[in-house]
Parts: sequence; structure tokens; C-alpha cells
Amino acid sequence: MLLDLTPRQVVQVAGGRLPTSYQRALSGFRYGAGSVKLDLALDGPIPWNAADCRRAGTVHVGPTLADISAAEAAVARGEAPELPYVLVGQQSLFDPTRAPPGKHTVWAYCHVPHGSSVDMTDRILAQIERFAPGFRGRVLACHAMAPRDLQAYNENYVGGDIAGGSSGGLQLFFRPTRSLTPYTTPARGIYICSSSTPPGGGVHGMCGYHAARAALKRLA
Ligand SMILES: Cc1cc2nc3c(=O)[nH]c(=O)nc-3n(C[C@H](O)[C@H](O)[C@H](O)COP(=O)(O)OP(=O)(O)OC[C@H]3O[C@@H](n4cnc5c(N)ncnc54)[C@H](O)[C@@H]3O)c2cc1C
Repeated sequence: MLLDLTPRQVVQVAGGRLPTSYQRALSGFRYGAGSVKLDLALDGPIPWNAADCRRAGTVHVGPTLADISAAEAAVARGEAPELPYVLVGQQSLFDPTRAPPGKHTVWAYCHVPHGSSVDMTDRILAQIERFAPGFRGRVLACHAMAPRDLQAYNENYVGGDIAGGSSGGLQLFFRPTRSLTPYTTPARGIYICSSSTPPGGGVHGMCGYHAARAALKRLA
């Protein structure tokens, strides 16, 4: 059994088969910042000032490294940033099946403190508007997901953390526990293959690859 789950659900699903000491180690796992995500329907593409942004699949709205650092430092202090670092996905620019002709869909998200309930809708829209004047006028509909909504959508997003746990400190390398065989558990036949294992969050597939190899090695 390969569990694509973070430690909290691993304990819920398989706790009865895991030794108490391992469950205790899993309970020391730290979750990271939350996210707020907007799904938008637009009357046209985002009118970015920068021509390159008008033909990019993803736009990272900092705009500078210093701005990104300031926004993420605020989140680390437990504050919802006034000027959030916003990631924008504008898939309908390249995939016409996403929206009717002339219309567009976009999602945008920013980090907030773990479990935050601050409404970031206006701050995210304002941040895009700063670099794309006229953007707000193109918004036909907006659906917002706060950390609790993200967690309800996918239980792995604990407190709105979409990266399977904090990558701070030693957890960057050792996750979900301090082990050289992080994909295996003490229970025979139970493995963890989620982004709570190395190398962490992202759509790279490497957590699953390494977990599968660990399982095959045990079976050999
Ligand atoms: C809006 C957004 C944008 C992102 N953008 C990027 C990006 O640009 N690049 C990038 O690399 N990464 C991005 N990510 C992060 C990336 O999607 C995740 O890090 C990655 O999907 C995590 O993979 P996973 O296998 O750990 O878990 P998931 O992909 O979350 O899969 C876990 C599955 O298990 C299910 N599940 C959870 N709990 C239970 C339970 N108790 N019982 C049964 N099923 C359960 C879930 O419903 C889900 O289907 C983004 C994430 C989000 C939300």
C-alpha cells in the first residue's frame, strides 16, 4: 500500500498498523504556510503591461526578489501580506478548450499564514491590477478558496499548505521523519509516496518514483 498522504492522514488511515513510536515521530511533522486561491473567469486576457507576461503560461508577480522576500517574510511572521507574492496561471491563452472564444480562465494564488482566514481576494486582484491596468474590469466571476476550503477539497492541504509540509530546516531533507529510508514505514507493505517525503512539494513525480523503488527493493 503506497499512501499519497501527509503524516496526519497516514495516522488516520493506517495508524492501527503502525507502532506508537513511529506515530509519535509522524506527529512531530511540521506543516507550512497556507494558500489562498482564486479561480477567475475573464472577459479577455490579462492586459499585462509587460509583453512577455501576455504570452506566459505562469506569471510570478513579485515583482522583485526584495518584494517576494518581504511578502514571504510577513507570512513567516504570521501576517497576511498587504502586497502578496502572487502566482498566476493563464492556461486558456494556450488551451482554447478552457473558455468560450474571446473569454479566458485564470487562477491565482498567494501564501498566507497556516490556517489563516484573512480574505485575500482584494489584495490578489489589486496586485495583478498594479501590473495590468484594466484587469479588474475584465473579471466576470471570481471564486475564492481560503485555507480551510483547500483542505476540504484535498485533505493533504492541511491548513492550506499545498506543498505537503514545511520545507524549513531539516525537513527540507528529512521528511516525514528523520530517516534514511523515508518512504518505508515500520509496517510491512505500507509506504508513503506523497510530497511529505523527499524531495517535497511539486509536480516532479520523484516522491512516487522513490517510494515505488523502495517498495520493489523490499519485495526483492
Ligand atoms: C493551485 C496550486 C498550484 C500549484 N502549482 C504548482 C506548480 O506550478 N508547480 C509545482 O511543481 N507544484 C505546484 N503545486 C503543488 C503540487 O500540486 C503538489 O505539491 C503536488 O500535487 C503534491 O503531490 P502529492 O502526490 O503529495 O499529493 P496530491 O497531488 O495532493 O494527491 C493526494 C491525493 O490523495 C487524496 N487524499 C488526501 N487525503 C485522503 C484521504 N484521507 N483518503 C483518500 N484520499 C485522500 C487527495 O484528494 C488527492 O487526490 C500547486 C498546487 C496548487 C494547489
